[in-house]
Amino acid sequence: MLTTVSTGIVGGTNKLKIRITNSVEKYIYGLIKLRTPLIIFISFWAIAIGLWQTSGNIFYLFNFGYIGTAIGVGIGLYVLLPVKNKPSGRRFAQLLIGTYMLGFLGIIKLENMQLEGFFFYLLSGYFAGSVIHYLVAKILGPILFGRGFCGWACWTAMALDFLPYKKNKIGRLTKKWELLRYIHFGFSLLFVFLFWFVYQYHPIPMSKSELAWLVGGNTFYFASAFILAFALKDNRAFCKYLCPITVLLKITARFAFLKIEGNKDNCTQCGACNKACPMDINIMEYVKNGERVLSTECIFCLTCTTICPETTLNSTFKMDIGGKERIRRIESAE
Ligand code: SF4
Ligand code: SF4
Ligand code: SF4
Repeated sequence: MLTTVSTGIVGGTNKLKIRITNSVEKYIYGLIKLRTPLIIFISFWAIAIGLWQTSGNIFYLFNFGYIGTAIGVGIGLYVLLPVKNKPSGRRFAQLLIGTYMLGFLGIIKLENMQLEGFFFYLLSGYFAGSVIHYLVAKILGPILFGRGFCGWACWTAMALDFLPYKKNKIGRLTKKWELLRYIHFGFSLLFVFLFWFVYQYHPIPMSKSELAWLVGGNTFYFASAFILAFALKDNRAFCKYLCPITVLLKITARFAFLKIEGNKDNCTQCGACNKACPMDINIMEYVKNGERVLSTECIFCLTCTTICPETTLNSTFKMDIGGKERIRRIESAE
């Protein structure tokens, strides 16, 4: 009798222990799976609190808290949702942030976050609005999260990702077409210098004149981006050949702690990741060489992590110097 009771108690304790161990393991596994959204979420809230405390302006707390929460929840959904619904996590973040930035910050608060607006703010010596946006999303932030802005927050890409050409079947055009981004950047700078120094045009940040620049700049971006997308049957053609923001983004994105990594022992070289990558990155080649995806063209959209049949691709948080470009180009290209 005693033995039976004792065995019962010991068995119950074991079951309880197993249950507790399973729950702890599940909890730890859940945390590991959610490490990327947690890192993003915590980083943005740290920026929000830091800027609020140093400037005394509570708007920063709202602004960066909102953006960090939208991206964190978006990536969290991406991680947790079943495969076929995963892209909606990214669309969720893109729509929340894109409409907020263009609609609320741009049109209502009159912050010109186009490249020309950033240059005008710098010339005015005005450290707010557009300057902070560029520092966080496009200059310093990429050291942490690479070109995550392009995958999760850009308002131009928010519209482009609705178009039908999500995969570029033929690969990228020759490298020389990518020079257009640098030429565009140079023209933007020249344009601003011309207005500022020659015509003595000194716009007041966050004034009505900003709206004209914002509407003009966006009209050009959207029009050229849509034309390129349909002409080349590639949603992200504008990002690859013409967007001047990439000139800034690529400088620091090479150091990104967050990158995609695969395990070459599990990779069957099936090529599915290469075909699905919207930026034409030769992911398979990186994996084969035992490297993380070091390309500064990666927009951290996570598509490859979902598509890989061996589930060998994941986001990892490490230190390395990227910039090694392995791009899948059309066969006639170099
Ligand atoms: S490359 Fe330019 S247009 Fe494309 S997502 Fe990045 S910032 Fe937006
Ligand atoms: S999809 Fe996965 S298994 Fe296939 S080539 Fe890419 S990394 Fe390798
Ligand atoms: S490498 Fe992966 S995460 Fe990066 S752009 Fe290509 S599909 Fe997206």
